[in-house]
Amino acid sequence: MNKKIKINGKEFEYALRKRKGVRRMRLAIYADGAFVVSAPKWYPVYVINKFLEEKADWIFEKLKHVDFSELKKRKEADNAKYKTAKKSAKKIIEKRVEFLAKRFGFVYGRIAVRNQRTCWGSCSRKGNLNFNYKAADLPQELQDYIIIHELCHLKELNHSPRFWKLVGEIIPDYKNLRKILREFKTINL
Ligand SMILES: [Zn+2]
Repeated sequence: MNKKIKINGKEFEYALRKRKGVRRMRLAIYADGAFVVSAPKWYPVYVINKFLEEKADWIFEKLKHVDFSELKKRKEADNAKYKTAKKSAKKIIEKRVEFLAKRFGFVYGRIAVRNQRTCWGSCSRKGNLNFNYKAADLPQELQDYIIIHELCHLKELNHSPRFWKLVGEIIPDYKNLRKILREFKTINL
C-alpha cells in the first residue's frame, strides 16, 4: 500500500507494509529513495503517523537529495523489463524446480515468479514457492542454490542448523554460493 507524507511542505511517498510477524515499527530508506515503513498488522493509522512525525527530520534529511522523477523512470523501465521477461523466466524456473524436486525428493505446491526488490525466493507454509524472475538469468549453480534453498524450506521452514544441514547435503559448497549471490543481489535486485 503506497501512502504519502508531507514534511516541510514536501510530499514523500512510502510503502506501508502491515504484517502479522512484525512486532514493532520499522523504517527503511534505501539509496534509491525507496521508503518503506513496516508496522504490526493491528497498528492504527494514528500510531503510524505519530511515529513518522517523530522521525520527520531524519526522513527529510535522507530524502531531500533524491531525484524522484529519475526514480520513477527507473521503476517504469524495471516494470517493462519484468513484463517482457516474466513468461520465459517462469518457464525456465519451473522446469528446473521440477527437475531438482524430483531428483532430491521434494513435493511442492505451485510456483509463482515475481519482481521482488528484496529477495530471490520464498516458500510459504502451504508449500508454494516464489521466485524472483531475475533468478532465471543467473548462472546455473546460483539458480540451483536458490531453488534448493526454497525446496529445503518445504521440510524446514526456518534457517535453523537443521535447515542448513539439509541444504549442505545437497549442495556442499552452499556457503560460497551464498556469498557470491549476496554480491549479485546488491547489483541486480
Ligand atoms: Zn531461506
